[in-house]
Amino acid sequence: MALMDIYPTALRLLGRPVLVVGGGKVAARRAKGLLDAGALVTVVAPDAVDAVRQLADSGLLRWEPREYRTQDLETPWFVQTATGVAVVDAKVSAEAEERRIWCVNASDHENSAAWTPAVASVADVKIAVNAGADPRRAMAVRDAVAAALDEGSLPLRHHRRASTKGTVALVGGGPGDPGLMTVHARRLLAEADVVVADRLGPRSVLDDLPEGVRVIEVGKTPGHHPVPQDEINRILVREALAGNRVVRLKGGDPYVLGRGGEELAFCREHDVDVQVVSGVTSAISVPAAAGIPVTHRGLATGFSVVTGHDELGNLPARPDHTVILLMGVKSLARSMATLAASGLPADTPVAIVERGYAADQRVTISTAEGIASRAAEVGVENPAVIVVGDVVRLSPYAPEHLRVTPNLSSTVPVSSPGSYLAPGTPR
Ligand code: SAH
Repeated sequence: MALMDIYPTALRLLGRPVLVVGGGKVAARRAKGLLDAGALVTVVAPDAVDAVRQLADSGLLRWEPREYRTQDLETPWFVQTATGVAVVDAKVSAEAEERRIWCVNASDHENSAAWTPAVASVADVKIAVNAGADPRRAMAVRDAVAAALDEGSLPLRHHRRASTKGTVALVGGGPGDPGLMTVHARRLLAEADVVVADRLGPRSVLDDLPEGVRVIEVGKTPGHHPVPQDEINRILVREALAGNRVVRLKGGDPYVLGRGGEELAFCREHDVDVQVVSGVTSAISVPAAAGIPVTHRGLATGFSVVTGHDELGNLPARPDHTVILLMGVKSLARSMATLAASGLPADTPVAIVERGYAADQRVTISTAEGIASRAAEVGVENPAVIVVGDVVRLSPYAPEHLRVTPNLSSTVPVSSPGSYLAPGTPR
């Protein structure tokens, strides 16, 4: 039988009786697949593996612990025979054939009236692959397609608008490099009708959106809010209520100084389905792009993430507690004065990482005492992450007198300074 002869179709088995003959592993797998499709499954087999017994015990299928009889074919629409005994399978499929019931014969692929494809589900898409008489090949193709769907590199977008309400996903996009987006984020983007985008985050993915996807720019710059938060909230709800799948693509993580909680609450108040997808926060990843781990044995055991507008006075002002400032460029001098007043030594190293992960990323390192004037000198600008503490000494960008070499035990392999380095990072 050539593969060309098959007619792929999708059986809708909800509530229809089907028969599985056999109680082994293959039969159990088939029974499970049929149950997932909502079929009324009867398993006929003198003995059965635990998986079948458990499904029977919990009332999900009926197990008849006996040999197959011809009368078993009176009710089913569809039959799977997988007894592991070729003559029995042949008998079941021949008798099904006589009664014009479609039957899959697991022990005789060539003569089977129907074949079971390799199947995967991604979101509401089901893919089924037949690849001649080579099930492993079919599985490999299926896995590749499923993985591509999963990571959003295939067009998952709906072309027929659901009659139901739309949804909102608050998606953390990471610090800007698309490689630091999650697989889930990519998938949601591939399904989106509308993307509400920030100025920070992985902007390049916006260029690859399929035609017809609407991008609404709401990007904020510090001290200047082109689209106020209330308005962003209203846009999310308006677009979802119009039936769209809305992705609110945010820089970093939605819940780290990103007002994700407010957007979530507003959507809920308006009865809009909303999910939150964590992202890689710039607070941790941007220092890493400059070779700075926010904690490091012997240098710092904890860290705080705050904004430059915050009252820093209550934080531990010690070189072994890393302080990470977001949106902190404008108030840098004041922040340093506050930390100094709380007792932070003047020679504590401070790094400013501008435009983390961009081709023009720049790292400026000085001491708590000297950083503000150094920043003014070189013209530091937002977006930038400021890191205060002894961990800065590990950066390959640190000037010689501030630098330490990591003190690693001999069993730990020495690797590059950051786990995921931006272009141009010295190693
Ligand atoms: N939710 C975001 C932070 C939003 S606040 C997150 O988890 O990353 C915006 C601040 O993030 C900026 O002012 C800057 O301090 C920092 N930031 C975000 N992306 C950055 C990048 N690529 N390089 C440097 N700083 C960045």
